[in-house]
Amino acid sequence: MVHRLYLTEMSTHHTPTRSTLPVAGEDHARLTIDLSALADNWRAMARRSGAARTAAVLKADAYGIGLEPAARTFHLAGARDFFVATPAEGAALRATLPDARIYVLSGMWAGSERLFFEFDLVPVIASEEQLAVFMAAVSDGSDHPCVLHVDTGMSRLGLRVEDALALAGDVARPASFSPIMLLSHLACADDPNHPLNRQQLQRFRTAVDAFDGIDATLANSAGIFLGEEYHFTLTRPGISLYGGAAVNDAPNPMKPVVTAEARILQVREAKAGESVSYGATTVFTRDTRIAVAAVGYADGYMRALSGSGVPLRKTNVPGAGGVLHGRAVPLIGRVTMDLTHFDVTDLPEGSVRPGDFIELFGRNMPIEDVARAGGTIDYELLTSLGRRYERRYEAAKK
Ligand SMILES: *Cc1c(COP(=O)(O)O)cnc(C)c1O
Repeated sequence: MVHRLYLTEMSTHHTPTRSTLPVAGEDHARLTIDLSALADNWRAMARRSGAARTAAVLKADAYGIGLEPAARTFHLAGARDFFVATPAEGAALRATLPDARIYVLSGMWAGSERLFFEFDLVPVIASEEQLAVFMAAVSDGSDHPCVLHVDTGMSRLGLRVEDALALAGDVARPASFSPIMLLSHLACADDPNHPLNRQQLQRFRTAVDAFDGIDATLANSAGIFLGEEYHFTLTRPGISLYGGAAVNDAPNPMKPVVTAEARILQVREAKAGESVSYGATTVFTRDTRIAVAAVGYADGYMRALSGSGVPLRKTNVPGAGGVLHGRAVPLIGRVTMDLTHFDVTDLPEGSVRPGDFIELFGRNMPIEDVARAGGTIDYELLTSLGRRYERRYEAAKK
């Protein structure tokens, strides 16, 4: 009996259920997800992919925006190939997309075979060990597709090119092993001038040639921008679909998809010489009006946003900023777990009121700029947002 009670308690505390998620109107922080921008971004990347088919990468809950609405939107826009990181993500996606091709980037390991067969998931075989697991799984003659991951210079996952070439030339290769596609991943595509891009391209070509006419996929978002040579049969955009900046030091052509906002709980005055938040890192040089927003590092609004990436040192340097009533306002003091402070002194008195929402990033504040202020990239900002936001989806226009 005691054991039972304990389990009940565990499950209410550790498994967020619908009732623990924010209720519309009571939310302190919200994400507005523009599904028509999401569809437009997929179409834009499909156009840039030219003759190649264009997949959509949906790992990590579709980069934090929500797997199901993202998957439906891409499918409606025309996508039929989808990449996830784990078989569990693939199984979840299968419920939404019964007829799509779903590839699992982490591949197949012993014990996970059942998921691949049951949910019709295509493993992306990442190593010799995984190859053995896959071969054993199909040794009864069952016909199941797989993709072979070839490492061309990232040293993350994939067979070495030599080993892939040996496999292609192996006359003893079992008939049950015939990959439907070769995959490789670019390490430096966000830096178009990096010499490794071209080296990876050459190595990948060698492997693709050895497998004679096989489908092939190399380009992530940034790889698509490198040009047609990198597109092969299928491209794999992720971050660009979600509005992120794929290429360093270049204007971001994608439409913003996610707008994050937090409610202002209080507007207060502080005098010159007073300070704000933990550590008193910001000491005011003028009388200051402060808006206290209901968002903090527990919401993925990172503590490092406090001050140009050096929040642990004593610093007055403002980090990120927000947008309130159309005006950019600087973040002041340290970001705390649930609360963040903004300097609204320069906005007309009385214009900022408790209950107003401040934009943290999105339509008016580029996500990549906010991520940079926190010493990271938009990928990490998006995938760290957490569960306290109310998520509102704006329907895609046909
Ligand atoms: C995450 C991932 C992608 C998508 O990359 P983006 O930079 O987000 O476009 C493509 N391929 C692989 C193997 C990945 O892990």
